[in-house]
Amino acid sequence: MSQFDVTIIGSGPGGYVAAIRCAQLGFKTAIIEKYSTLGGTCLNVGCIPSKALLASSHHYAEFKHFADHGIEVSGEVKINLEKMIGRKQAIVDQTSGGVKFLMDKNNITVFEGLGSFESATSVKVTKADGSSEVIESKNIIIATGSKPSNLPFIKLDKERIITSTEALKLKEVPKHLVVIGGGVIGIELGQVYLRLGAQVSVVEYMDRIIPGMDAALSKELTKSLKKQGMKFYTSHKVQSVERSGDAVTVKAENAKGEIITLEGDYSLVSVGRRPYTDGLNAEKAGVKVTERGMIEVNDHLQTSASNIYAIGDVVRGAMLAHKAEEEGTMVAEILAGQKPHIDYNLIPGVVYTWPEVAAVGKTEEQLKAEGVDYKAGSFPFKALGRARAGGDLDGFVKILADAKTDEVLGVHMIGARCADLIAEAVVAMEFRASAEDISRMSHAHPTYAEAIKEAALAATDNRALHV
Ligand code: FAD
Repeated sequence: MSQFDVTIIGSGPGGYVAAIRCAQLGFKTAIIEKYSTLGGTCLNVGCIPSKALLASSHHYAEFKHFADHGIEVSGEVKINLEKMIGRKQAIVDQTSGGVKFLMDKNNITVFEGLGSFESATSVKVTKADGSSEVIESKNIIIATGSKPSNLPFIKLDKERIITSTEALKLKEVPKHLVVIGGGVIGIELGQVYLRLGAQVSVVEYMDRIIPGMDAALSKELTKSLKKQGMKFYTSHKVQSVERSGDAVTVKAENAKGEIITLEGDYSLVSVGRRPYTDGLNAEKAGVKVTERGMIEVNDHLQTSASNIYAIGDVVRGAMLAHKAEEEGTMVAEILAGQKPHIDYNLIPGVVYTWPEVAAVGKTEEQLKAEGVDYKAGSFPFKALGRARAGGDLDGFVKILADAKTDEVLGVHMIGARCADLIAEAVVAMEFRASAEDISRMSHAHPTYAEAIKEAALAATDNRALHV
């Protein structure tokens, strides 16, 4: 029987990063993955393929602005969806192959099959052909991730009534895509098909899209996406989703109790994700799982069984790849006797639409609810030389700082390249910078990053220079 110091169940960004860090720290490490490709949701049906399609559709949308730049295209510009999806798959395959390379490089043993607990120190791996083997391990890390959620009355047929997984490999551009749920995944994939020519309607139960983020970001993103042609039905509760042939009918009730009917040909159900523990037999190891299927952990990510830890989407907190990665590293270092720490307040959130949306720290709504005395400084992208040169004028940066100490408490931004710009805010907040600190740092000109400096200037005595 194979014996390991640490065995990780699940090869997503949480699991594979945990495996690499365990190997670096000298542990004999194994990783179990039920699919034939490594990388989990993120690499196979999440972050990477969605960003590949966002990039392709962004290029297509950009061509409409070529004329503004004095670029003339003779002949038709057409979409070859099969090729676009093929490119996405090639990137996925290459990235997943990269994870396999990293496993081999770090001498990590990869087992392909479903991992299920036999006891707190043994896991059975069952392969697709039904054969199985049991491995022994001193410590085990559960990194089994999540799966798309659904509403109880919706029958997902995975052809016309689909989840994000199918939306990443459609064979045609929908005529009318009805997106149920205005969270990050629904809005990103909605924008992909909007750019490719679909009519896109978003039905959201809450009164705004991306409801977890600062309300000013929701408002600006809604404005920008409406300009691009996306339609929104916020404060609408979906009542039914029915398919008849190639048609999909979505009925939803608005705040006044009226029922609206949307006739589409595809409906993307993106109402969140649920932790995934099916087939894991966690109870056999004494690991407590909540009713929602989430693994219970303490502040050290330790489960109710002392040698078993859990990380990523299967535990509490934001369902984000980089949060899973931080947790993977943290558990490996705890096992090695180190004292790592994660500041969950400083895990940034990003929406990869165009304009991009990014945030870290507290929202204005949270600061108000917590009774914190704060000040705010904002700066619009349209006042930046770089934004004018590039033609990307939508958006702003908003900095929230403590009214007395000036410490930065939250940074919220929407506009070109915000997914990368947010890193500056994370660094600043990690080192507990004040808005004044940021405003006194030199920012290269002309860059989009200048909006951060200007917003920091605006946060104290409204000193922004270019408005
Ligand atoms: P997962 O990536 O879900 O991996 C879990 C792995 O465990 C899977 O491979 C699964 O097959 C395997 N597994 C499960 N049970 C067993 C078992 N019993 N035995 C063996 N193997 C098992 N996050 C971001 O940060 N940025 C983004 O841009 C982003 N975009 C996204 C876009 C989409 C469309 C989706 C769906 C998600 C996106 N996410 C994004 C979220 C991100 O994918 C997840 O937060 C991340 O993958 C979680 O990592 P994980 O390691 O916890 O689990």
